[in-house]
Amino acid sequence: MAKYLVAMDQGTTSSRAIVFSAEGRIVASHAVEFPQHYPHPGWVEHDPEDILQSQITALQEAVRLSGIDVGEIAAIGITNQRETTFLWDRQTGKCVGNAIVWQCRRTAKIVERLVADSHGDMIRQKTGLIPDAYFSGTKLKWMLDYYNLREKAERGELCFGTVDSFLCWNLLTGRPHVTDATNAGRTMLFNLETQDWDPELMALLGIPKACLPKVVDSSGPIGTLDPAILGRPIPVTGMAGDQHASLFGQACWKVGDVKNTYGTGCFMLMNTGDQPVRSENGLLTTMAWRIGGKPTYALEGSVFMGGATIQWLRDEMKMITRAAESEGLAESVPGTGGVYLVPAMTGLGAPWWDMYSRGTLVGMTRGTGRAHIVRAALEAIAYQSEDLMQAMARDAGRQPEQLQVDGGASANAFLMQFQADISRVRVVRPRVLETTALGAALLAGLGCGLYAGTEEIAHLWEKDLEFTPQMDEATRLMNLRGWHKAVNRALDWAEH
Ligand code: ADP
Repeated sequence: MAKYLVAMDQGTTSSRAIVFSAEGRIVASHAVEFPQHYPHPGWVEHDPEDILQSQITALQEAVRLSGIDVGEIAAIGITNQRETTFLWDRQTGKCVGNAIVWQCRRTAKIVERLVADSHGDMIRQKTGLIPDAYFSGTKLKWMLDYYNLREKAERGELCFGTVDSFLCWNLLTGRPHVTDATNAGRTMLFNLETQDWDPELMALLGIPKACLPKVVDSSGPIGTLDPAILGRPIPVTGMAGDQHASLFGQACWKVGDVKNTYGTGCFMLMNTGDQPVRSENGLLTTMAWRIGGKPTYALEGSVFMGGATIQWLRDEMKMITRAAESEGLAESVPGTGGVYLVPAMTGLGAPWWDMYSRGTLVGMTRGTGRAHIVRAALEAIAYQSEDLMQAMARDAGRQPEQLQVDGGASANAFLMQFQADISRVRVVRPRVLETTALGAALLAGLGCGLYAGTEEIAHLWEKDLEFTPQMDEATRLMNLRGWHKAVNRALDWAEH
């Protein structure tokens, strides 16, 4: 009997694949890195061939390393870096150029124009997104303009896709041109209410309908892996953008469930159920997933400098040699001695949204040392996450009691305890930290009928560690007051 699930996890710097048992345990995994291209300042591209080949190798290697029989794979799930944009010829499959990566700022001017022309509110209302160059829509517009391809696109001779679409087209039998609802939701072309491409948004950006993929559910039949890749046809029955897959893999299936991923940046998502919640606090409204045609929505916020704050201490400040060293140093002092680090090196996101704020270190005395600053850096990751969580709580009208965590910096026990303290929530870390891949695998497992429903897989999500709030309320409030005072010093600093 088929009893394994495989996740393809196509990320920004590497393509990975993980083989899971039906019990949600990791059997084997493999990752392949690929080059980043920076043709101009602020521009970021990927070579589509690199994405494809690295993903195929990762998949083949993970399955080989697992030692399982390919016939025992029940289904494959796909998860991916979001918003990165591909455009290819429907006849030849050849991309018109490199993929434009989510980080690429080349379309910032297009977005400024849209906002200046008062389209911002309409875009927010329909897509749940704050207009930004991150999202695929303006990247696709740029490609159609730059390569002069609008007429060709209108004739249906071109296909647009995010990474999920691109992989499906190239790896599945019969070349389906599809995207899942979570990925569609990051294009700035997808209407959250109608669950379809929006004609007004398409017209605004000059995007012909004929180049857009069919939007499918995040779980359910999507296609079949080309047998040339693993030697057998395998159903692909799960697909979601990375943050959405991670929310699913963290078992955040109930309204109010929240997860935070502590990677380079932090990504926090809260399940808001079958209704999109409009944010008054600078968060994004996004799809959580769509199953059986039924959309589940989420609120999303991100911290730009999460684990990156620790990288900065290591690489630029040379205060530590390894990220993990920060934990012991932070614990070597009883507090920061009144020091706050606001890591606004690239501005501040929700709920502040100030691109002119800059990194600020305040409250130093003659007694301030390296340990205080390192501790302040870790605390800053937690404070920023707390600000996001409060913004979510205000928007959703409910206060979370528990926060599910993952990502590289969630290994730091000091950080996790401080988060529990400052946010007055239980912080829970799962045994499988690869929640993105697990989420894709579980979506595939549901989609192929290996599992009957989420009730059946609830026990697969296993807790590893739990951190409970210990800090007294007066100290918590004093710390938060200090943090917000420090944030105010960081705001509106850069010349503009
Ligand atoms: P990404 O997926 O964004 O590349 P990861 O989830 O791999 O990120 O996490 C890497 C980040 O976590 C780095 O920014 C690193 O500084 C930080 N990090 C890793 N281990 C620790 C640790 N023990 N304490 C604090 N930060 C850590």
